[in-house]
Amino acid sequence: MVEVDADRLAQMLPPAGVGMQHEPIRLCGACYAETPCRRIEWQFKETGGCNRHDLRLLSKCPKCGTRFKIPALWEYGLCGKCRTPFAEMAECQKRI
Ligand SMILES: [Zn+2]
Ligand SMILES: [Zn+2]
Repeated sequence: MVEVDADRLAQMLPPAGVGMQHEPIRLCGACYAETPCRRIEWQFKETGGCNRHDLRLLSKCPKCGTRFKIPALWEYGLCGKCRTPFAEMAECQKRI
């Protein structure tokens, strides 16, 4: 068990992004509303939930279904297609 935990830890703290799950890009709109930046934990959670808000993470825009761009392109914090702000998407997130 200890070895498994160590492996998991290593995955959670990858050097230069190695070992991370990059796709799909996931997002908690409620977190983004509070702090408009990407939280690295979103890419690690296999259950797809935000443990701060007890909400399921979004992997695409709930309004138009477009997948999120890579966070480096989140200049304005909105959907690249329908321009819904990430913060507003929190209303569409389901409770865990
Ligand atoms: Zn959250
Ligand atoms: Zn959209």
